[in-house]
Amino acid sequence: MPDYKVHLIFGFVFCAILYYVFRQLILLDIKSTAISLLLIGFAALFPDVDHQNSKIHRWVKSIIIIIAIIVIGVICYPNLKIAFIASFGSGMFLYILLTWFKPKHRGITHTFKFSIIFSIFIGIITLFTFHTLIPALFSFLAYNSHIILDKLVQEL
Ligand SMILES: [Zn+2]
Repeated sequence: MPDYKVHLIFGFVFCAILYYVFRQLILLDIKSTAISLLLIGFAALFPDVDHQNSKIHRWVKSIIIIIAIIVIGVICYPNLKIAFIASFGSGMFLYILLTWFKPKHRGITHTFKFSIIFSIFIGIITLFTFHTLIPALFSFLAYNSHIILDKLVQEL
């Protein structure tokens, strides 16, 4: 199984080649380029979120727990004692839940259909925040670069 560095390099090279081929159709400004570069890295690693020992699994799990702790803390804010207990409790609960939940590796996140759902989700976020869909296109390409590389390695 290729590690995260191989998936990152392959994702960036895959996107760079396809961008070069279709460069007349894709108008990149500095904002779209910067956001796309960040999302290429994220999307090229994301399919392995279903693997307990992958870096992306640990990052996504940590981000979900941190966001939950902050949101619960803000909701309970005026009462600091309850905010602390609720934040700590929800963080522990999510940690246990996400550690216990073990989906099949190379299951649903390693499918073309999921790459479309992932890219639509990214597209909605980038359209409303940065008014561009180009990062979603590169996310789609990078995500599929991961699936293609895994399939190539499996067949060897
Ligand atoms: Zn994979």
